Amino acid sequence: MKIVTTIQEAKEQIKEWKDQGLSVGLVPSMGYLHEGHASLMKAAVSQMDKVAVSVFVNPTQFGPNEDYDSYPRDLDHDIAICEEQGVDLIFHPSVEEMYGKNYNTYVTMETLGDELCGKSRPIHFRGVCTVVTKLFNILTPDKAFFGQKDAQQLAIIKRMVKDLNMNLEVVGCPIIREEDGLAKSSRNTYLSPEERQAALILSKTIFMGQKMVEEGERDVKTLLDAMKSNIETEPLARIDYVEVVDGETMQKVDRIEESVLVAMAVYIGNTRLIDNFMYEC
Ligand code: AMP
Repeated sequence: MKIVTTIQEAKEQIKEWKDQGLSVGLVPSMGYLHEGHASLMKAAVSQMDKVAVSVFVNPTQFGPNEDYDSYPRDLDHDIAICEEQGVDLIFHPSVEEMYGKNYNTYVTMETLGDELCGKSRPIHFRGVCTVVTKLFNILTPDKAFFGQKDAQQLAIIKRMVKDLNMNLEVVGCPIIREEDGLAKSSRNTYLSPEERQAALILSKTIFMGQKMVEEGERDVKTLLDAMKSNIETEPLARIDYVEVVDGETMQKVDRIEESVLVAMAVYIGNTRLIDNFMYEC
């Protein structure tokens, strides 16, 4: 496995593979890799000739009061996970390498980033779209693999690729959870033992909501009231949002009639965690 830090080296490696007629998969990540990331790598390794993983904590997707500085980082651990999964290339650039002097160009969405996480993180998806576009341009993957865990991000990337005629396929991969249900996340490491226990309210409420919808509940208000009340039973939890939106446009709906995304962000202490489920009628 090769580890490169410059755009030039990354481009050269990809060119060598492309010249040999090999397909390339990309798993973009912010590092501190866990089994959720590993599942994307597994999917990529099984479908592609060569797999690149980017490890880059992207400053432009963090707001001024968010956790950019404290975001966990452990490159040696990330290297070990990538090796284990049979990854061929790690691209680990510095912030200077990605956003040099006088950086001035951003990719933004019109409405897809307005609801859900976009409301409390207004510049987040601009940063995500920008860095992902840069990674796509640098690494020119034939397929890129993203987790359903960040469902709004996945919908946004799919839209961006379609709207801007980008030459690749976006593959969505299911949420990987801890044995007790908590969705795996690099941010789970912020939780104290007491908060880790309290964090189960997210997955418990997701499973509860999913069951209600599967058993026929179609009224969004009824569903959301039940889900919110359930979260409020946990004293350490503070709701950022619980919403039901159209699975593609990410706009709020009143009734569950087509494909919907039921998504939540909940603070457990100071840690903001997200979870969701998709439902197709
Ligand atoms: P991050 O490093 O948090 O930016 O995540 C990188 C990629 O891994 C994104 O596409 C995430 O959606 C995906 N991912 C993170 N956690 C999980 C999980 N628990 N299950 C599946 N995919 C995940």
